[in-house]
Amino acid sequence: MRTEYDDIRFTTNFSMGEMMKSALFPEVAAAMKPEEYHKQNMFLLAVLILQPVRTYFNMIINVDSGLRIDGLNGLVGGSTTSLHPEGKAADIYPENRSALRDIFFYIKDELRGRWGELKYVENENGGFIHVALPHFGKEPFCSATYIDGSVEYFKVLE
Ligand SMILES: [Zn+2]
Repeated sequence: MRTEYDDIRFTTNFSMGEMMKSALFPEVAAAMKPEEYHKQNMFLLAVLILQPVRTYFNMIINVDSGLRIDGLNGLVGGSTTSLHPEGKAADIYPENRSALRDIFFYIKDELRGRWGELKYVENENGGFIHVALPHFGKEPFCSATYIDGSVEYFKVLE
């Protein structure tokens, strides 16, 4: 569902619009009216994390879920402390899903300091990565959930 935000380019490969989609609730997503700080946060996420990943791996990076305001976070079952309603978080997966693990470790190690939440999730669809900008007052975390259900936690702060 196209919106005016699709024409606003954040970086070479990311528009504001693609950080505001929902596969399950496209109409709700298309009706979202972001405030200035949502736009700033989405912009920073694109500049500091998404574009560097896109450029380094030279691979299409799909944003499955980004901003969730105006009821969308509740509809998709997002947590009340989620950073999606701030425009600070995105769930992403590469065109080539086999690169998912490499992308997780690239963000974790090479883009350290730019994120406050990083979650690698394997599932029957191939999985995704949840990444969010640092958020004052919220404990940073980094974890990996594997297809067998096991979870590995990584140290964020040295
Ligand atoms: Zn997420």
